[in-house]
Amino acid sequence: MRDKIKNLKQQLDAVILAHNYQSAEILDIADYVGDSFYLSQVAKNLNNKTIVFAGVYFMAESAKILSPEKDILLPVIDAACPLADMVDVQALLEYKQKYSDYTFVCYINTNAEIKALCDVTVTSSNAEKVISKLNSDKIVFLPDKNLGEYIKNKFPEKDFIIWNGFCPTHERIRANSILTLKEKIKDLVILAHPECNKEVRNIADFLGSTKDIIEYASKTNFKNYLIATEDGVMHTLKNNNPDKNFFVPGLPAICMNMKKTRLDDIYFSLLHKKHLINVDENIADKARTSLEKMLELAR
Ligand code: SF4
Repeated sequence: MRDKIKNLKQQLDAVILAHNYQSAEILDIADYVGDSFYLSQVAKNLNNKTIVFAGVYFMAESAKILSPEKDILLPVIDAACPLADMVDVQALLEYKQKYSDYTFVCYINTNAEIKALCDVTVTSSNAEKVISKLNSDKIVFLPDKNLGEYIKNKFPEKDFIIWNGFCPTHERIRANSILTLKEKIKDLVILAHPECNKEVRNIADFLGSTKDIIEYASKTNFKNYLIATEDGVMHTLKNNNPDKNFFVPGLPAICMNMKKTRLDDIYFSLLHKKHLINVDENIADKARTSLEKMLELAR
């Protein structure tokens, strides 16, 4: 299957982008692996005609918005993000009316219609930088309440209204599971994603995006790390650091949507050019403004 994928990629001048949360078999064949911010930059800058996006829907959609001339393929069309679906247009319009003098900042984990209604998009790796450059002290942040609270604490002088959404995968990670493991392994260094709940964030030694977590573990010289984010990052962490130990608290936190894509889905995606992502032009134009503002401010 790997050889077949390689051949088709060459024939079609295609590349495979994979999010850090994909399964190991996908990460191993991908041309580019990273977090949402990195992958959105890659998608925009590549010259290839076809991009296979191994991730969830909003990621492929963002790639299409940033690169409308390219064919963006999402191998599994129902790979969705429950967090992205926690904000709908009608509710957002009501917020926009109520907080008409606020700047609307949306996490990249939103659908195109939502990005189109927001002033700027952010990812977990650039939210602080982007918001620090906004000329506004009044922010509505959506849809992730955990990332929103984490960012709010960085700007005590700003007024934040935070949407009540959450990532079900990160929400499942419990502080008491972490503390139980820390009792057994005293020198455990806790690395957590800001989508984790407050109790987990409060006991973390380091908070950051998946890219930040992977970099931190590679650059520091501790022996034992606990990883509080989706389980997919363990593959890269272990590959990059064979002499270090990585633990998860309790059962691994697995995003079922991220794990829907298998090797044969990638193969059929290339073979039949499916599923081609299209975004309504009017919505795409507005969402592009929000995404491009992020790329500009995060530089
Ligand atoms: S891990 Fe959470 S935020 Fe990421 S795709 Fe899955 S549900 Fe969405």
